[in-house]
Amino acid sequence: MKLYNSRFNKEQEFSPLQGSRVGMYSCGPTVYNHAHIGNLSSYIYADTLRRTLKAQGYDVHHIMNFTDVDDKTIRDSHIKYPDDEPAVALKKLTSHYEKVFLDEMAQVGNNVDDITFVRATDNIADIQKLIKKLLAEGVAYLADDGVYFSINEYRKTRKYGQLSHVEFDSSRSAERIDNDEYDKDNAHDFALWKRQKPGEPAWDFVIDDKTNMPGRPGWHIECSVMSVKNLGQPFDIHTGGVDLKFPHHENEIAQSTAGDQPELFANFFVHNEHLLVNGEKMSKSAHNFYVLSDLTDKHYSPLDFRMLVLQSHYRKATNFSWENLTAAKNRLSHWRAVAEWRYQTPDCPDDDQLEKVHKAIERAQGSLENDLDTAGALRCYDEAFDLFTPEKVSHDALAALIQSIDQVLGLKLEETTPDISAEEYDLIDRRQAARQSKDWATSDRLRDELKTKGIEIQDGAVTIWSKL
Ligand code: AMP
Ligand code: ZN
Repeated sequence: MKLYNSRFNKEQEFSPLQGSRVGMYSCGPTVYNHAHIGNLSSYIYADTLRRTLKAQGYDVHHIMNFTDVDDKTIRDSHIKYPDDEPAVALKKLTSHYEKVFLDEMAQVGNNVDDITFVRATDNIADIQKLIKKLLAEGVAYLADDGVYFSINEYRKTRKYGQLSHVEFDSSRSAERIDNDEYDKDNAHDFALWKRQKPGEPAWDFVIDDKTNMPGRPGWHIECSVMSVKNLGQPFDIHTGGVDLKFPHHENEIAQSTAGDQPELFANFFVHNEHLLVNGEKMSKSAHNFYVLSDLTDKHYSPLDFRMLVLQSHYRKATNFSWENLTAAKNRLSHWRAVAEWRYQTPDCPDDDQLEKVHKAIERAQGSLENDLDTAGALRCYDEAFDLFTPEKVSHDALAALIQSIDQVLGLKLEETTPDISAEEYDLIDRRQAARQSKDWATSDRLRDELKTKGIEIQDGAVTIWSKL
């Protein structure tokens, strides 16, 4: 498939480094609160990329991390659990938000069973091992407040800034950054390990015979360690939002390629553009974000949101608006309504319909293999739905369409369009009988009764129900 590789700023033909196995790593959430829907959009694209690769027959190993120790998780765990030991408070907070995240991922149709989740705090020993290696190679150094990565040392043998082409001012690079809010404009030495501050959770770090520096890992090092530990190095695809290019991904590359490590870290970097609100990046710090419950409170489903995300291209910033969400909801409702015809219209086997549907499915897959053109794939599926009328439904064709959409786009058409109950069918039959005997009052009453059950009736050449 063609995939835009941020390492070279161009589309390239993707093929796995080894046989048919694809190793994929996605920077995961910091689990201190709900993810906002911008974050979820990033994971919807990663999920769709994995589905597309799987549909091509690749054996995809997808790893995602939980950042479960950083400034924000520590800060909020103190606030929420002031009476607990710092480590206990941290675990309580992060394990709660891990569950929240997994639940919200599943709600937006991301297949969490296909992802291996890993935690920073479960990988402290390996993180320390890499830091020691970097110290031994001379690209890391000890400071009072932690262990830092030296960009100037790294640059003696490797190029820093492969992804972002960040302007490098060597006189400033040794200025150290020790908090988790990173300078977006300048390359700086960054913390690999942070010495414990009073009241913070900490892990012992025996650096040599004389030095134990209790503390916690920096953010960048956890991704270097957990990706390579689970996927080997180099691995195939690294995903994340464009905001992570610099410094996070640059620093991951530096940590993993310093000294005698392989020169290549990840073969493809795939970065999604941002979800915007009124033209600005949706972010917690700008206080312009929505979480999933803001949408469901207004009676939009998480899958309506998935449709909104799929309607745009991952490399184009998308504006989130209620109008866009309504348009996505309408499209999904239309698809569901046609999917429900499989219960209501007799099978009408039709080779021509079947073949056209299969062609549309192939074209949709082709769009996805063209740098994940999800909007193009949706248009192919629209055309396939247009092949059906209530009078003419090849059940095989409709089943193939539903199955393909669920497999590659994760829109859960099968699951969200169950048949109605025997009692509900009975109400429909009684209404039909009333209409035939021109008993309009009864017919209207039964239509209203069905409406209260969330079922709408459309009279035409055939009468069709759909779930509201
Ligand atoms: P964070 O928890 O902030 O590290 O973000 C998790 C993922 O969401 C990262 O890949 C970010 O790059 C991505 N992200 C953050 N904000 C947005 C946004 N507004 N739109 C799309 N992706 C985002
Ligand atoms: Zn990361």
